[in-house]
Amino acid sequence: MEPLLELKNISHAYHTKGGETSALSNLSFQVFPGEFLAIIGPSGCGKTTILSIIAGLIPAESGEVLFKGKPMPKQNKELGYMLQKDQLFEWRSIYKNVTLGIELQRKKDPESLSQVKKMLKEYGLEPFANARPSELSGGMRQRAALIRTLAVNPELLLLDEPFSALDYQTRLSVCDDIASIIKKENKTAILVTHDLSEAISVADRVIVLSSRPATVRRIVPISVSIPDRTPMRTRNAPEFKDYFNLLWKELNHHE
Ligand code: ADP
Ligand code: MG
Repeated sequence: MEPLLELKNISHAYHTKGGETSALSNLSFQVFPGEFLAIIGPSGCGKTTILSIIAGLIPAESGEVLFKGKPMPKQNKELGYMLQKDQLFEWRSIYKNVTLGIELQRKKDPESLSQVKKMLKEYGLEPFANARPSELSGGMRQRAALIRTLAVNPELLLLDEPFSALDYQTRLSVCDDIASIIKKENKTAILVTHDLSEAISVADRVIVLSSRPATVRRIVPISVSIPDRTPMRTRNAPEFKDYFNLLWKELNHHE
């Protein structure tokens, strides 16, 4: 199968008055269509930098990013980016928030609008369409942010620690929700997280990064022997503990 996304020997450093910070060093990996990839690594190792480079927000100093085998276009409408903070605007209703992306892309056609309404209904936000973001729980807000991202129909989703601002309990259920929505909508996703359990529970493969400058330390395919895999069921799978220990050791360099 052809990869949807390919990073080839990406290196990047930030140059500031205080000096040079090397963030990524010779980083290469592939993401396949329909795959859910998780990237874990120590704080400050360069995870957000990777997503920023994929999204074209910063140009890599060296290396190549290929999307469907071609150099990544500057403004790729097939990419959706979701951040830790949900970035909902308080002065807009939830409906006006989730339609913001298609409004900006001038795609507010009947088809896109009915798709958005369908998602609001399916994912339990229809009764809150006219509410303001502050009237919603943290989990509902993240769902709204995901619907806004999905509304422009991106093929690849970039998720930068989207659950880390939520409390533990909410985080488990929202992570479950969001992962199943992404699967259901048949998207390819890259989830950056520092939470090992989260990575194992949602991902098909986990990339473990070294500390800064980030390079690929190990790629671990996750396969659990339970039917109808969901994040919550995966947490209860017998293999979960082994993956956890393996990734823990990789992150902490215990050979
Ligand atoms: P992570 O997301 O894994 O926590 P980042 O990709 O945000 O890491 O950052 C990697 C390193 O690059 C960090 O040491 C950070 O301080 C530095 N860095 C990130 N953004 C900038 C920037 N705009 N200017 C200078 N240094 C930066
Ligand atoms: Mg980050």
